[in-house]
Amino acid sequence: MTFQEFNFKDTLNQAIDDAGFKEPSPVQADAIPLILEGHDLIGQAQTGTGKTAAFGLPVIQQMVGNKGVEALVIVPTRELAMQVSDELFRFGKTAGLKTATVYGGTPYNKQIERINQANIIVATPGRLQDLLQSKRVTINPNFVILDEADEMLDMGFLDEIKNIFTFLPAERQTLMFSATMPKQIKILAEQILNNPKSVTITKSERTNTDITQMFYVVADYERDDALLRLIDYKNPKKCIIFCRMKKEVDRLSSYMTAQGFKVAALHGDMEQKQREHTIRSFKQGLVEIFIATDVAARGLDVNDVSHVFNYHIPFDSESYVHRIGRTGRAGNKGEAITLVSPNELRTIKRIEKDVGTVMVSEVIPTRQEVQTRKDGDLLAKIADTKVTASGKDMVKTLQHDIDIVTIAQLLATIVQEEVDVKGKDIIGLGSEEVKALIERAKNFKGGDRNGGGRGRGRNRSRNRSGGGNRDRNGGGRSGSRDSRNGGGNRGSRNGGGNRDRG
Ligand code: ADP
Ligand code: MG
Repeated sequence: MTFQEFNFKDTLNQAIDDAGFKEPSPVQADAIPLILEGHDLIGQAQTGTGKTAAFGLPVIQQMVGNKGVEALVIVPTRELAMQVSDELFRFGKTAGLKTATVYGGTPYNKQIERINQANIIVATPGRLQDLLQSKRVTINPNFVILDEADEMLDMGFLDEIKNIFTFLPAERQTLMFSATMPKQIKILAEQILNNPKSVTITKSERTNTDITQMFYVVADYERDDALLRLIDYKNPKKCIIFCRMKKEVDRLSSYMTAQGFKVAALHGDMEQKQREHTIRSFKQGLVEIFIATDVAARGLDVNDVSHVFNYHIPFDSESYVHRIGRTGRAGNKGEAITLVSPNELRTIKRIEKDVGTVMVSEVIPTRQEVQTRKDGDLLAKIADTKVTASGKDMVKTLQHDIDIVTIAQLLATIVQEEVDVKGKDIIGLGSEEVKALIERAKNFKGGDRNGGGRGRGRNRSRNRSGGGNRDRNGGGRSGSRDSRNGGGNRGSRNGGGNRDRG
């Protein structure tokens, strides 16, 4: 079906177009007509299925736009408030609708000012209750939406929510969305919804087919090695590693950092500011691996997470669904990879049954397999690379000093290191860089480089763009990396026997 079939007003169709949405997701296809008919609604669908637009579009369609706060969306966390309000702003701006975001920890006055100018507000329960109860703000929304209701329950917001509804007009359309429907949510629904219709995306639809799910059986002591090997092999663009406990998050963050990855930890008791900063770095690609607990990563919406790793299998199926829903977003493909010890196999079966999904059992790739895949990537990259005039010149220059096979090897090694980072066209180097290359080539010892140079090129390339000092053993690099790149660390990582067990 198409969005055309909903007969939205032109401004809204324009916004949908601008957002690049081609066709409604299943929850949108089911929910939008019901909401347009004016029904209250309970929508159940996992994260990443497009619930924001499922309520946002039909609500905006019905809004008049000149009567103060017409729509109120309540969400569990500040991040979600910002995400949802960004999304609604996109849909509403063509119709001139104003959106305000309301959450704790910021000054009241500005917030109140914004609310008074807004048509849509997106709020977390605590601050909203606060504003309503103190009568600093009075609103009469015709549309009230509870988003991620189960999460609000988990976070202990039930009382706040009930209280908030005492300040809202009885005459309203109420919509409730939740990934799961625990009993208390059903009871809440009976209290706040009027004759609701329900939309449930069934299990098979619920499992996002864009996510390939697999598990690897490992002994407990092999988890770190297995994780490294898999990251080497899968070569994720951005990934999230889930742990059960904060302690594990901290330990693994230090460990992965020591391995040369750009890592950030995300856990529940981080300062909000720090949290937002961390998430921003991840979105911008400054951090390539997020290590997180379940709670910390709930609702996290980063479109290009290519892989989710479960360092340990989560305790319950709901967490599993939430975790893997961080990948395969917005039509992208994703992989969800779970490490299990043999005695956790039963948990896999249980989750598969609960979620209505299949996880494929895989075997940790051998080091040889990792290398073969990398070589394959490299060959493909070389085949794709256009040779530029300066590239030819560069090879000519290099040929004065070194033989062509070595040049090729060198370039191959460098390209390999660059591939993941930004697909930089290595052939387009400037003359300074060519000189540096020649220096490197002169000191080049074939076997040594191949052994050590491959694994983790990421840091090096980053150093490069930063400082420009590309002499491998030269000075000028910052502390911790120095020892990694310069010394035997890398070599020993690739060469050591530890990782070979798979
Ligand atoms: P949920 O609330 O179910 O977790 P979101 O509403 O956050 O999901 O949507 C997830 C992502 O999918 C967002 O980036 C959103 O812009 C995108 N999206 C939603 N609906 C569509 C659609 N019909 N076509 C393409 N992308 C969509
Ligand atoms: Mg949502």
